[in-house]
Amino acid sequence: MIDRHRVGQIEITRIVELNEPFLTPEKMFAEATPEAVAPHLEWLLPNGMCPDSGRLILPIQTYLIRTPHHVALVDTCIGNHKSMAGFKRWAGRDDQQWLAQLAAAGVQPEDVDFVFCTHLHLDHCGWNTRLVDCRWVPTFPNARYLFAKDEYAYAERRAREEADPVFAENVLPVMEAGCGELVAADFVLNEHLYFESTPGHTPGHVAVHLQSADHHGVVTGDLIHSPLQCHHPEWNFLYDEIPELAQRTRRAFLERHADAGTLVLASHFPSPSVGHFLRHGNAFRYRYVTD
Ligand SMILES: [Zn+2]
Repeated sequence: MIDRHRVGQIEITRIVELNEPFLTPEKMFAEATPEAVAPHLEWLLPNGMCPDSGRLILPIQTYLIRTPHHVALVDTCIGNHKSMAGFKRWAGRDDQQWLAQLAAAGVQPEDVDFVFCTHLHLDHCGWNTRLVDCRWVPTFPNARYLFAKDEYAYAERRAREEADPVFAENVLPVMEAGCGELVAADFVLNEHLYFESTPGHTPGHVAVHLQSADHHGVVTGDLIHSPLQCHHPEWNFLYDEIPELAQRTRRAFLERHADAGTLVLASHFPSPSVGHFLRHGNAFRYRYVTD
């Protein structure tokens, strides 16, 4: 599945690794109840929710960004042959279609200049590396991989304290190959690309902003998981690490970008994922670009 968008001179292509039902809203968000979800079924079904299981459909995807100067990837999905401590159903994948989509979009691994990770959970940094002769090596040999410092420290800590394999498989090999760099959470690459600190889902989570003249876009990462949270910004996702901070960050982000013309490149919103935040009563709603 490929589709393209534009922010001024910047071209954006979605590279979708998986697009599957995940969990029911009640499981994903502790505060969600069937009564609270009911008014939204009309727009959720069938693209955003599996009609049979009632589980929300959650794509795992990368945003390929082409500025006039660079090729960048924001988040790199699950990847192949990963151990996946808590998510065995995504472990040991052996599927070349993500790389094939990248190629279909005109990009070979050698062409990538930058890799950004909004955060270092297992579905956002998997293709950072691939297994070659039993060793993890950077998938994009010519890229600079930029990690927010606090997020890197968090991933390193999880590896130590929870034996989480993500750091050893997806992050450390990049650093050891000399391709990684630690940057501040408000890092500015150039006039087109910069980070915004958006902590809560993880301690060092960043959103990645795209700017071209007056045009503005942003890759959300996991500061928001579902358009349901536009209506209920207070609903925290099951895996939000610092729930109270996640809530504050999400609400402030929605306030800032609603009705502001920002093209929202949502990481896990159902396809086509891309759209705009609009104000709606005391909260917000989401309008997909195709609507
Ligand atoms: Zn995620």
